[in-house]
Amino acid sequence: MLVNRPRRLRANEQIRSLVRETQLSVNDLIYPIFLVEGTNIKEEIPTLPNNYHFSVDMLREEIEELIELGIKSVILFGVPNKKDEFGSEAYNENGIVQRGIKEIKKISKEILVVTDVCMCQYTDHGHCGIIEEGMVDNDSTLEYLAKIALSHAKVGADVIAPSDMMDGRVAAIRNILDKNRYHNIPIMSYSAKYASAFYGPFRAAAHSAPQFGDRKTYQMDPCNSDEAIREVELDIMEGADIVIIKPALSYMDIIRRIKDNFNVPIAAYNVSGEYAMIKAAAKAGLVDEKIIVKEMLTSIKRAGADIIITYFAKDLARWILEE
Ligand SMILES: [Zn+2]
Repeated sequence: MLVNRPRRLRANEQIRSLVRETQLSVNDLIYPIFLVEGTNIKEEIPTLPNNYHFSVDMLREEIEELIELGIKSVILFGVPNKKDEFGSEAYNENGIVQRGIKEIKKISKEILVVTDVCMCQYTDHGHCGIIEEGMVDNDSTLEYLAKIALSHAKVGADVIAPSDMMDGRVAAIRNILDKNRYHNIPIMSYSAKYASAFYGPFRAAAHSAPQFGDRKTYQMDPCNSDEAIREVELDIMEGADIVIIKPALSYMDIIRRIKDNFNVPIAAYNVSGEYAMIKAAAKAGLVDEKIIVKEMLTSIKRAGADIIITYFAKDLARWILEE
């Protein structure tokens, strides 16, 4: 006689929804925004269909749309015109991200502004730090990252998100923020950021591909998992309030291990390659975009992510509203 019948709890949508363990919410989402110099620009990013390069003056409509959809958080990336060896536009008080933060705060106080802190979009060599003797030098980079973070805090950033993967940068940023009385600004650290091929479309969008070598001397080896635990542990010790795992899909095991080992909120970055692959497959008629995106984002949350940074944020918010 068959006694175990798990199918009883799958019999109809009512009972399925009653026992559903993981549910996506618009509260989980952070939407990435790319800022460019100039005025009157809203240009679709060819590698990231349905995502745009915005000049600061064109942000209003976008921000108002996000509020309408219930999305409360954005993460800003700057694409400056001027690049140099030291990425000096990154800490320019009138830089593209700094102006973007001020503009968003002017449009609405409801949006949480997270800022990506890195140098690769701002350096002429495209690396995430200062080059010394042909190598990215860790300790001299820290000073610059701290300066960038402070410049964001000064104009109203709500959360600082360092993505460079230098050792000690969370402490360096925490230190400079605290010294300047920004002790209430959280650090959301890209703690386990892998050297991944899934970043391809982003690099084209942010014009941040390295001009020589690769990022394997600072981003993590995709083969490693224990190392992610160590990175997260160090970042928490240095003062990280939230940790990011990036990318998401190929690193679900990492998300789960971090969830099981630590008690800080986890953000997963559903990266550009993950987005672009689905967009391409949907366009080719191979998959149902809505169903597959919901499945993907749900599985990221089920793996243990509390927060999802995703280019699908607006689509998902719309689908949730429709339900
Ligand atoms: Zn970088």
